[in-house]
Amino acid sequence: MSNHLTKYDYGKCHICGERMEEKRIKQDFWIKGKLLVIEDVPAGVCPQCGEKVVKADVGREIAALTAAKKWRKARIMSVPVIHFSKEVV
Ligand SMILES: [Zn+2]
Repeated sequence: MSNHLTKYDYGKCHICGERMEEKRIKQDFWIKGKLLVIEDVPAGVCPQCGEKVVKADVGREIAALTAAKKWRKARIMSVPVIHFSKEVV
């Protein structure tokens, strides 16, 4: 990978106006009933409200990764699954 993932100004949070900070995050996607997690995604994260944004090129890379067949060979992580049990009125 090239080194284009250096400092980038994400500007201010569109929800609360706080300045976004660059972080590497985990992003989860549901694809055809399967949960896929992509680690180390560079994103702007709001320290105030937690809003996340990704750059357009990162978004395109994510789309390419999720479309690629190679993620079927991904490391498998097991996650707890619980059922929402309260009745909603
Ligand atoms: Zn915010």
